[in-house]
Amino acid sequence: MSQAAFVSPDACPALVLNADYRPLSYYPLSLWSWQDAIKAVFLDRVNIVSTYDTAVHSPSFEIKLPSVVCLKSYVKPAKYPAFTRFNVFLRDKFECQYCGDAHELTFDHVIPRSKGGQTVWENVVAACAPCNLRKGNRLPKDAGMIPAQKPCQPTVHELHRNGRRFPPNYLHTSWRDYLYWDSELEP
Ligand SMILES: [Zn+2]
Repeated sequence: MSQAAFVSPDACPALVLNADYRPLSYYPLSLWSWQDAIKAVFLDRVNIVSTYDTAVHSPSFEIKLPSVVCLKSYVKPAKYPAFTRFNVFLRDKFECQYCGDAHELTFDHVIPRSKGGQTVWENVVAACAPCNLRKGNRLPKDAGMIPAQKPCQPTVHELHRNGRRFPPNYLHTSWRDYLYWDSELEP
């Protein structure tokens, strides 16, 4: 389980940094396909910070695939992370909000959809399959099952705090300098 799980290392994705050399986005991690990265280089929108050993060729030039690129103009980062399955799990620290178990995680609508509950940050929590089944279509008070934390929309900062405990499965070595930079400094 990872926000970068869809990225195959073989695809040589480029980590995209904002003009301040921080990732453009953490959740999900801002990654471009090598094709998009090369295109941005030619459009003069990014600088190449680091490269893979792999190169692409045309009759007139050769260019190493960028592993890290940096935007030339600063983009105001989003304060709130995207509402994704991974980010809900990350907010809930990959623990069932009813029993604390970390296995067989699913999503539970706190107010069931059948009772008008919406699929939003405030109404979706991580729940293990047995708890999800047990709660069924009941309201929390009827089931006697209250989420450990009242679900709410996290800030990027909050997810980042949790994210250091659950780093993506795949991080190219050249990306490490730009991620979790403060984790080593904290006790
Ligand atoms: Zn549970």
